[in-house]
Amino acid sequence: MNIPFVDIHTHNYEPRQDIVTIRSVRLGKESVPTSGEPFSAGIHPWDCEVVGSEWLDSLETLPVAAIGEIGLDFCKPIDRTEQLRLLTAQADLAEKRRLPIVLHCVKAYEKLLSLMGRYTVPIIFHGFTGSPQLAGQLIRKGYFLSFGIALFRSPKTQEALRTTPDNHLFLETDEADTTIEEIYREAATLRNTPIEILKQSIYTNYKTLFG
Ligand SMILES: [Zn+2]
Repeated sequence: MNIPFVDIHTHNYEPRQDIVTIRSVRLGKESVPTSGEPFSAGIHPWDCEVVGSEWLDSLETLPVAAIGEIGLDFCKPIDRTEQLRLLTAQADLAEKRRLPIVLHCVKAYEKLLSLMGRYTVPIIFHGFTGSPQLAGQLIRKGYFLSFGIALFRSPKTQEALRTTPDNHLFLETDEADTTIEEIYREAATLRNTPIEILKQSIYTNYKTLFG
């Protein structure tokens, strides 16, 4: 069997045989897919002041593969109490449903880490940018890191990628026009590893978390 690419977090879904995709849906902003492809859904921290509580209720039953992206963004002028309330309500649901959590975190690592310790489901930090020290801190807690287009421009994120063990790694396109193949190629070059090995380990991680 040819091992597929895995795009763990994307908003630009296009079905392809050689890519396994988790499409990310911003509840209340993007429509929920009906064609059976795997998707994650959650109330994004950017939307937490405007999205109604019916969307939180919908997460009780939506056939999602993961809950997210949810999280904290302390760079935006959005009420932090409301961000925290929705993050914990949604993470509680993920724990109850035994689903992985996909996190969005901007300038809020300290707060987020203090909250996430109580959860036992797998946690993926999507769109990771930051230093190898921060990456190491997350990895030691057992979390997964997903890297995207920052790999093309951020030296410290490139260094963080180099130090991330195979069994904590994902790649993603998010909202970028870049293809997942291009991101794999960049990551393989940075890690000095053949792309087939990278495909193998990321697909194994996917299977571990999503069956
Ligand atoms: Zn996203």
